[in-house]
Amino acid sequence: MKDKKSIPSIEVMEKMSREERQKYLDGRLRELVAYAYEKAPAIKARFDKAGIAPSAVYSIKDLEDLPILRKDELVELYKANPPFGGLVTAPIEDLERVYVSPGPIYDPHHQSESFWRRHVHMVKAAGFKKGDIAVNTWMYHLVPAGLMIDEMLRRAGVTVIPMGVGNTELQVQVMHHLKVTGFYGTTSFFMNIINKAEEMGYDIRKDFNLRLAMIGGEMGGGPIRELVEKKYGIATGDAYGTADVGMIAYECSEKNGMHIAEDVIIEIISYETGKPVGPDEVGEIVVTPIDETYPLIRFGTGDLAGWIEEPCPCGRTALRITRLLGRVGDAVRTRGMFIHPRQLEPALAGFSQIAQYQAVVTRSGHRDELTLKVELKAEDGIDKEKLTQQLIKAVSEAVRIKLDRVEFVAKEVIPEFHKLIVDERVY
Ligand SMILES: [Zn+2]
Repeated sequence: MKDKKSIPSIEVMEKMSREERQKYLDGRLRELVAYAYEKAPAIKARFDKAGIAPSAVYSIKDLEDLPILRKDELVELYKANPPFGGLVTAPIEDLERVYVSPGPIYDPHHQSESFWRRHVHMVKAAGFKKGDIAVNTWMYHLVPAGLMIDEMLRRAGVTVIPMGVGNTELQVQVMHHLKVTGFYGTTSFFMNIINKAEEMGYDIRKDFNLRLAMIGGEMGGGPIRELVEKKYGIATGDAYGTADVGMIAYECSEKNGMHIAEDVIIEIISYETGKPVGPDEVGEIVVTPIDETYPLIRFGTGDLAGWIEEPCPCGRTALRITRLLGRVGDAVRTRGMFIHPRQLEPALAGFSQIAQYQAVVTRSGHRDELTLKVELKAEDGIDKEKLTQQLIKAVSEAVRIKLDRVEFVAKEVIPEFHKLIVDERVY
């Protein structure tokens, strides 16, 4: 990839006004589209099919008619045109590494400076600096995760111990012996290590030097992060990325949403209308990384988020997205409308008498029926008739179709870890 000399430094970019950033990204997008159209046959074919001439693209809005590139289409492209599906603009001998993801999809290892500076920037924003010693427990073979995080940490001046997955007891010893200060991995694996360390008789606060754990990426990690911070005194951080495009967004010290990484364009697209969402709405994260080696223009991640409009107190001007709110596939289409767990949560948050709930979609004749199963904290003193009416009103307003009934269920009918909406229709 040919990085331009005119690219501003990250420090300058962090403080750019929205207009300046827009102008910069529009310029980068135009270069990317022109380059990809010329060098990536699959991208050319997609543009041609959509009737979009690269010369007509000035901004991401001009790509609204270009269908979102989904993972299953990516797999098809790789199958149809091996080895790289017509998507990688460099010949294989110019690539340092090729990763193998399920499909198989062959993701090129990125060599561009703008790719790495965006990743290094995120490591620094998380609070890592020279002198830190980090264990990286992401997988080091086949997929990009382990090696990519390894490289971005080293480029940020951090000493890396390439642990990979597993060997929990050894992980504990290494963290203790080498006075490790940072951790990269999944939330659940981090907790395995912490639990193992305590089992082995270590006191996390006294016997370890851990100060920062990057344990995001998993849904519902909020309470665990809180536990890690309060009980063990270890700061936690979150970032968001995918195997295909690398890191996309990152948390700053405010820990309220994630800033879009520099040199990445994000759209949030409604799964109902296919158009950009308005304020307070949720949609799919569609990403266009400025990456000429692997120009996945309008790549659909399948992850859901919303925008945070307010400026961030940290001073970075890059827009923020909310933490991930689920997968596109979690929405259940009912009577022509998509119902998503995200819509139920705020509607039911005020009902303190409810312990657990689950919406169930069934089919009766030709009609979808929506039932809300409710487990009460206690039965005493509850006017179920009145509560039913209140729930029907609250849920119907939130999901925009009528809730047919409320069913009060005994304890443990709804399992502890459950989907908030299940589809039990049989056709
Ligand atoms: Zn911030």
